[in-house]
Amino acid sequence: MTDRYAVFGHPIAHSKSPQIHAAFAHQTGQDLTYEAILAPLDGFADSVMQFFAAGGRGANVTVPFKEQAFNLAGEMTPRALEAGAVNTLKFLDAGRILGDNTDGAGLVNDLQRNLRYPLAGKRILLVGAGGAARGVMMPLLRTQPALLVLANRTIEKAEALVMQFSEKTEQGHLVRNLSAIAFDDLRQQFDLVINATSASLSGAVPPLPNDVFAAGALAYDLMYSRADTPFIAWARARGAATADGLGMLVEQAAEAFYLWRGVRPDTAPVIAALRA
Ligand code: NAP
Repeated sequence: MTDRYAVFGHPIAHSKSPQIHAAFAHQTGQDLTYEAILAPLDGFADSVMQFFAAGGRGANVTVPFKEQAFNLAGEMTPRALEAGAVNTLKFLDAGRILGDNTDGAGLVNDLQRNLRYPLAGKRILLVGAGGAARGVMMPLLRTQPALLVLANRTIEKAEALVMQFSEKTEQGHLVRNLSAIAFDDLRQQFDLVINATSASLSGAVPPLPNDVFAAGALAYDLMYSRADTPFIAWARARGAATADGLGMLVEQAAEAFYLWRGVRPDTAPVIAALRA
């Protein structure tokens, strides 16, 4: 029987996830369908449970429901627990729901494998303190960067995240070089600047200093679009190499596909097809 999967979000029409998972299924010979479902803003849990009751086997979750998905899942992978947000649900037997967070693995895999950009020893600036930033912090810290600095418009949110993750990482000794900073106080340069804000959605660029990029720096925008995002255009004009979040999107989808099906798809042809 064909297994059903879906992505839940609001809005959702723009989602490339159905295309990505159809390509994975075709490539690996898995018998499944994958649809995009617009959940009402006040009805996420009901939508998911209806899908589940109708035979759905798993789901992806996107803006703005990742924290609600965390509350819906009764069981959690370690990385979802760390992140405090869930972007992947797997429906287990007896009505149990497993929550996972594949965003961080998606970002790190895109940077290190696809872009061949090793993160160990790098000075990283992570801009934003929302759900996406929360999901990528621990996976970034595990790559042993020289430092990870968080900057956010609402500095209190960046400080809270740093405090929370410092407590989590103390025993792993990953915490030494983790800090939060206000945009106005940014003076140093970074090898990698990751835009994990949704500023590009409104055509805005976070207020970073013009000299934030070290020589040879990479600017990575979690957002992606056919044309350059405002952040990518801004960074390129300041001499940085650039990458958008399409590779991360495909990589996080591959992690979800593996959780559901136990098969790891080849992401390179899918990224290439989406770019074409
Ligand atoms: P979120 O929880 O709503 O957080 C939004 C963040 O953006 C907050 O830190 C917010 O700052 C900041 N922000 C919004 N407008 C800004 C502006 N004009 N200037 C400066 N900062 C601004 O969203 P999210 O879930 O973290 O997602 C962030 C982005 O990542 C979205 O565009 C999403 O599509 C993308 N994303 C991509 C992937 C992928 O696979 N490529 C995966 C996950 C997310 P305040 O705290 O001050 O409000």
